[in-house]
Amino acid sequence: MDEIRIPNDATYAPFSLTDVIATAPLASRLLLGATLPGRVVSAAAFGMYAGSAMKDWVSRRDMRWIDFQREFGCDVKTLQEMPDSVRRDDIEKLARRLNDGWTDEKIPREDLAVSVNAHLTEFIAGVTGQRVHTSSEVRDFTLAKLVFPFAMGVCDIVSGDVALFRDTGIFEPHVICHEFVHRKGYWKELHAQGLSYFSLMSSGDPVLVQSALAERLHRQLKVLTAEDAQAYHDLVDHLGMRKELAEELHSLRPDPGAYEGSVSVVMKRLYDERMKLTGQNGISDYDEGFTNFLWTFSNSGQARQEARLAAV
Ligand SMILES: [Zn+2]
Repeated sequence: MDEIRIPNDATYAPFSLTDVIATAPLASRLLLGATLPGRVVSAAAFGMYAGSAMKDWVSRRDMRWIDFQREFGCDVKTLQEMPDSVRRDDIEKLARRLNDGWTDEKIPREDLAVSVNAHLTEFIAGVTGQRVHTSSEVRDFTLAKLVFPFAMGVCDIVSGDVALFRDTGIFEPHVICHEFVHRKGYWKELHAQGLSYFSLMSSGDPVLVQSALAERLHRQLKVLTAEDAQAYHDLVDHLGMRKELAEELHSLRPDPGAYEGSVSVVMKRLYDERMKLTGQNGISDYDEGFTNFLWTFSNSGQARQEARLAAV
């Protein structure tokens, strides 16, 4: 098997280098009343950051990329709309399968990240014939949390730095895997959603499979209820799921605090625009795009991968 290694040096730094670059001048002004030390620290951090990004970029030149259209019969711009009746069916099946397979096993975050990364690497290798090794480091804080309060995690696409913003319960394997897809070099959200789902589903690990199914269910519920939080909660309650699962799903639509609420509205709109400018459909790629992707793939006669990957 062909193997390549992306160094991801920035992910091993004790602090997020982006945070250091952004805050060092300000911090030194506040603490020391001087701007020079801050600038020096900031320049050093920037040098490390740029150096790491450059090394990653060089090592990615030998990467074999997944051709989504060829492998799954669709890509960002060739998705077909999944009919609502099929979505409702999907939701029923997902709820049943989650109930039957329920596990309360919790894997510590560090071990989980290593396991998820290994399954993702193997899944991609199964498609391309090439193992792309990347870092399994995960942070629990970066300043991006203040800018994207609605996000569960982020990946700095330049440095590959990944941070999780909160305890994401049964969704954690998916959130980590999604960000790790970006770290491997796939920056589109639809690709991160799809590759994370397939990798976790084919892992054979009940904790990882549960996470993938829960994410799919959550996204289907979001598509059907749009911005109506009450409709979302009602739908969750109507599924007759075990208490633990229902609680996890409810917790994804909390009443936002004043800060999160107002920042989210503005940032979501900007983020949606940014996604459109980069050849994506917008924020809808996380839920509508993702579920349409599974639907189009499972009905495609042309996909090279087997449609059972998308079956519940
Ligand atoms: Zn993402």
